[in-house]
Amino acid sequence: DTFEALSLDTRILQALAEEGYTAPTPIQAQSIPIVLEGRDLLGIAQTGTGKTAAFSLPILHRLAATPGRPPRGGCRVLVLSPTRELASQIADSVKAYGRHLGLSVAVIFGGVGFGPQRSALARGVDILVATPGRLQDLLDQGAGRLDHVSTLVLDEADQMLDKGFLPAIRRLLKAIPAKRQTLFFSATMPGEINRLAAEMLTDPARVAV
Ligand code: AMP
Repeated sequence: DTFEALSLDTRILQALAEEGYTAPTPIQAQSIPIVLEGRDLLGIAQTGTGKTAAFSLPILHRLAATPGRPPRGGCRVLVLSPTRELASQIADSVKAYGRHLGLSVAVIFGGVGFGPQRSALARGVDILVATPGRLQDLLDQGAGRLDHVSTLVLDEADQMLDKGFLPAIRRLLKAIPAKRQTLFFSATMPGEINRLAAEMLTDPARVAV
């Protein structure tokens, strides 16, 4: 298996070579073609399997192939993450994989001042990585909108449940268009998470590693 065989944008292939990635991991090899097709995905995978690149690479490819400006006050892709550490890591990875594409990436999490996050959102970004609580706070303040989201990623859904974020996620979903691509990742699938997946996904392909 090679990244070239997955038909990713050559600028993404260049970034991967610079990262020292030589071959896709199993979750990447299985997920990337599905996401490139525009299908919904249910990915059962732990951290460490390469799942960040599994969703980021095809999302970057599709954004680069779809001309459009980041919407003022909003984003085209929203990635929800349970912790600020994970949100920062995802944003750093997305920036690295997309460094030759000229797309904008912002990260939003709690425990820090609102000002810079409010300004980033006001300008609009291609890809927004956020924890649910802080994002909801900003939306409640009228600082942003999610009506331009065409791709939604929910990462570590089981951790979201443990942290009590399911009500916040269900509230955010009301502000996101129903017609979208959704990628849902969880290490485990307890009943509550199965129900959330059923609510969020349409005819998903299922990948387990
Ligand atoms: P993740 O599961 O997304 O947190 O990724 C785990 C680690 O694997 C991160 O440090 C990535 O940089 C690295 N990684 C992801 N995909 C690849 C790959 N195809 N080749 C080499 N390293 C990778």
